[in-house]
Amino acid sequence: MDKLKKTIIYVMRSINYIGSTQTSLRKRLHAHCGACYNPNNKKYNMPVYKYIRKHNLGIELIPIKVLFLSSKSAKMVEQYYIEQYNSIENGFNCVNAYRYNKKAKQATLAKSWYERNKELSKARANKRYKEKKGLILKQEKARRKKNWNKIKARNSIKKKCNLCGCSVNQYGMNRHQQTDKCKRLSKTQNQD
Ligand SMILES: [Zn+2]
Repeated sequence: MDKLKKTIIYVMRSINYIGSTQTSLRKRLHAHCGACYNPNNKKYNMPVYKYIRKHNLGIELIPIKVLFLSSKSAKMVEQYYIEQYNSIENGFNCVNAYRYNKKAKQATLAKSWYERNKELSKARANKRYKEKKGLILKQEKARRKKNWNKIKARNSIKKKCNLCGCSVNQYGMNRHQQTDKCKRLSKTQNQD
């Protein structure tokens, strides 16, 4: 089986034309525009482009499905949507994306759906995990930052030592009163 690639099945907005791409939607759109508006392009006279030019429509690609597929299964899934959207009889697709061997059709479809779903659920699980992991890390970081600010604020509150009169962090009072500094200063104060 060849490599799985991110595959986008799309339909053109307001035109019943199904396509698929294993590059980006932006690159695919660029190619469609070249074919539509460059008279030297060999696809210039395809019915879909003639129609777009005649009615002065923009080309917009709406993703229907994003899957990780081999190039062969990409064509099969595209074919599935061409059939679902009836886009040959009732739209602008000229050719089938994939021709099934009629006898093998059922078996192949079942297999492709099985593989598709396997690939899909794996990709989804990975995505979910990544999203969740990112979110947890983010929340953890935010919580630590919030706590840190709280601790910083709490630590900045100072109290006056009742022995020596020094200004001391409220939580460090006990420790402070054990220090030589406090003992020395309180001695001096008591002598005065
Ligand atoms: Zn003190």
